[in-house]
Amino acid sequence: MSAGDGLTLDWEPVIGLEIHVQLDTATKLFCGDAVVHAGAPNTVVCPVCLGLPGALPSLNERAVELGVRAAALLACELRHVSRFVRKSYFYPDLPKGYQITQLDAPLAVNGSVILSGTGDAVGIARVHLEEDAGKLLHDRVPGRTAIDLNRCGIPLLEIVTDPDMNSAADAVALARQLRQLLRYGGISDCDMELGSLRVDANVSIRAAGSNDRTSSRTEIKNLNSFSQLERAIDAEVVRQIACVAAGTPVASQTLSWDAVAHTLRVLRTKEQREEYRYFDEPDLPPLVLTPELVTRALMDLPESPVERASRFVTLGLPDSSARALAATRTLADYFEAVVAHGATPRGASAWVLTHALAWCNTHGCGISAYPLAPSMLADVIARAEQGTLTRDGARLVVHALESDASAGTDPAVTMEVTVDGIIERLGVAEHPDESAISDHIDRMLADEHALVARYRAGEANLFGYLMGRLMKEAGAGADPRSASERLRERLNNTEER
Ligand code: ADP
Ligand code: MG
Repeated sequence: MSAGDGLTLDWEPVIGLEIHVQLDTATKLFCGDAVVHAGAPNTVVCPVCLGLPGALPSLNERAVELGVRAAALLACELRHVSRFVRKSYFYPDLPKGYQITQLDAPLAVNGSVILSGTGDAVGIARVHLEEDAGKLLHDRVPGRTAIDLNRCGIPLLEIVTDPDMNSAADAVALARQLRQLLRYGGISDCDMELGSLRVDANVSIRAAGSNDRTSSRTEIKNLNSFSQLERAIDAEVVRQIACVAAGTPVASQTLSWDAVAHTLRVLRTKEQREEYRYFDEPDLPPLVLTPELVTRALMDLPESPVERASRFVTLGLPDSSARALAATRTLADYFEAVVAHGATPRGASAWVLTHALAWCNTHGCGISAYPLAPSMLADVIARAEQGTLTRDGARLVVHALESDASAGTDPAVTMEVTVDGIIERLGVAEHPDESAISDHIDRMLADEHALVARYRAGEANLFGYLMGRLMKEAGAGADPRSASERLRERLNNTEER
C-alpha cells in the first residue's frame, strides 16, 4: 500500500493484542460468590464484589493456579512475588469505582507463542490477574440501558502480546492458537460469543521493513469473533494509511468496531497511565507463589497441542492428520483411546477424522457426544484390518452403531454382543477362511507394484490382469466374487498410496 506522497512508501501494520479470558473457577476472584453465566440479573453479588464500604477481598487460589498453568503453556517466567493495584475509573458497570488488577508486578512475563502456520514467534509481554466488571444491557427496554452486576469480580486473565504481528491474519492465527492452548490447559472455555474470550487489538503502521515500534497507535476494544478481529484490523490499517497519506498524523485513540456496519468509531482519546491513579491495593498482601502452589497448578498440565501433534507423527501419522487430531484435547484423547483399545494409529486416525468427525459435524456437536465408545470403534477397525469385515461392511456397522445409539438404545451394554449382533443383523460377516485372501493380496500387490502404481494412476483396465494374478496366487478355494471386491478396495484405498 502506498502513502501517495510521491515517495511511494509502502506501509506495514504493527499489531499487538490484549486478550482477556474468564478463568474457569467455581467462584469469583475475591469473594465466594459463584461464577454463573445465566442467573437472574444482580442475584449473584455480595459486599465484596460490589465494593461496599468495609468489605475485604480475599484471593481465590484456584484462579492463581490457572494463571500459573497459562503462564507455563505460554512459556512465561513466573514472578515469585506479584502485586495487585487499584485502577480507578468511573463506568456504570463498575460500582466500586476501581478495578483490582496487576500492573508493574504481574504474575508472569516474557513468554512466547510460535505461530504454527509461519513458524514466527510472537512475544508474550505479560500475563496478569484482574477482576471483570458488570455488564450493561442496552435496549432490552427500548431506549434504556440496564445493569447486571453478576459478572463483577469474575476472575480474568489478561494476556498482553508484544507488537510482533504484521497482518490481521497473523493476529487471528495468534488468537486462535491462544484459545486452543487455554482450552487444552482447562484454563478457560474461551467462548467468544459468551464473552469468556475478548480481544483488544493495538494497531499502528510503519514503513515496510523498518523496525520502528514507536508510531502512535490505536486500540480497538472488545472484538468478540475472529472474523470481526480480522475485519476491524484491516479497516483500521486502511484508515491509518489514508490518514498519513492525507498528511494528518494518526491520533492515539481508543476505538470500537461496529460489527454490523463494519465501521470504526472513536470512543475516546487514549487514556494515559496517570489518569487511572494506580496505587497498590491496600487490602491484599503481595501474591507470593509458593513451590507447593506451583506444583499443584502444574501437576496435571497436559502436553501442548504442538507437542501432542509431534507425538502423533512419531506414531506414523502424516503431519496434517496429526495436527487435526491434536486440535482439541477431547479429540486427541478419543483418538488415543481408540489406539489404546487395539486399533492401529493409521486406522484409528482415518476412522476418527472421517467418520466420527462427519457424524459430529452433522449433529453439530463435539467428539464427546459421539455415540461410539472408543473400544467399540477400535473393535470395528480391528476387524476391518484383519479382514473379517470389508471396509464397506465396517462402514455399515459403524453407521448402525451410531444410529442405534442416537435412537437411545445403549450399545455400550456389552460391546462384543453388540458389534457381533450388528454384524449378524446386517449380514456383513466375512467367512474366516476368506480372510486369508488378504495375505494373497498383500503378496500380489508387492510383486506387481509397478502395475499397481499404473492402475492407481488411472489405467483401470489393468484390473483384469491383477485379478488373474490374485486368483492364481490364491488357488481354487478362493471365492472370486469376494476376492475381486477385496482387491478393488485395496487398490482404491488412498491410504495405501
Ligand atoms: P500501554 O502501557 O500503553 O498499554 P504496552 O506497552 O503495555 O502499552 O502495550 C499495550 C499493547 O500495545 C500491547 O499489546 C503491545 O503489543 C501493543 N503495542 C505496543 N506498541 C505498539 C505499536 N507500535 N503498534 C501496535 N501495537 C503496539
Ligand atoms: Mg492496556
